Amino acid sequence: MNQIQRRQSLCIIKSFFVYIKYKQEVINKEVCPLTFLEASRCIYKAGINFKNITNHGRNAWKITCDSIINANAATNNKELKRLGFFAFIPRFKLIRKGVIKGSYRCNGDRIITQEEDNKGIVINRIFRLKRKEATTGMWVDSQSLCIEFESQTLPQDIKLWGAVVPVSTFIPQVRRCFRCGCFGHISKSCSAVQRCLTCSDSHAIEKGIRCNKKKKCINCSGEHLTLDRACPKFLTSV
Ligand SMILES: [Zn+2]
Ligand SMILES: [Zn+2]
Ligand SMILES: [Zn+2]
Repeated sequence: MNQIQRRQSLCIIKSFFVYIKYKQEVINKEVCPLTFLEASRCIYKAGINFKNITNHGRNAWKITCDSIINANAATNNKELKRLGFFAFIPRFKLIRKGVIKGSYRCNGDRIITQEEDNKGIVINRIFRLKRKEATTGMWVDSQSLCIEFESQTLPQDIKLWGAVVPVSTFIPQVRRCFRCGCFGHISKSCSAVQRCLTCSDSHAIEKGIRCNKKKKCINCSGEHLTLDRACPKFLTSV
């Protein structure tokens, strides 16, 4: 049993997502992307067991499997690799963040969960969310707790000190810089060289004029726009 399988077998899961990318083939100097049906046919014929498939950007698709065994098998499928595909389960599909709102005032306590009370739920970590204080503009601890679950789905509630509390979805903010294209900061605080979000070069950028050079992602060097949400680096940093 591999690691993903071990983690996920503890949780109640309905669907497993696997992303599949195709490395473009260059034939007679022409870049040949696969059509939706061509890709589906290859994935199907490689023997992958999936419930459905959807487009997920240029040369990228998302399949849904009904078990973790099938999802893992897709990522290890040799035939698919041979055909030039790359299948992966993004990190954000394995870790789900939930919020417990208005939990309790911060008293400096270490937050602990009694594991035996939360059977079948794997908690990665718990931390307090910050909020900006209106008067001072400083970030302070809020009453809300953020919980990282190792699962593809979020539990409806968890038990803390004997109390059953509902868990709501945490909506993450991925900070992206529109100046240098990197994650983790915004352009206002960027000191890097401005780069083109289309071709990744640092050429002069004029507002309203589209760059028509070959697409290259700043973060993964893939043949897509830097802001493409199908970028494997973006998917693993959400
Ligand atoms: Zn930047
Ligand atoms: Zn450019
Ligand atoms: Zn990318």
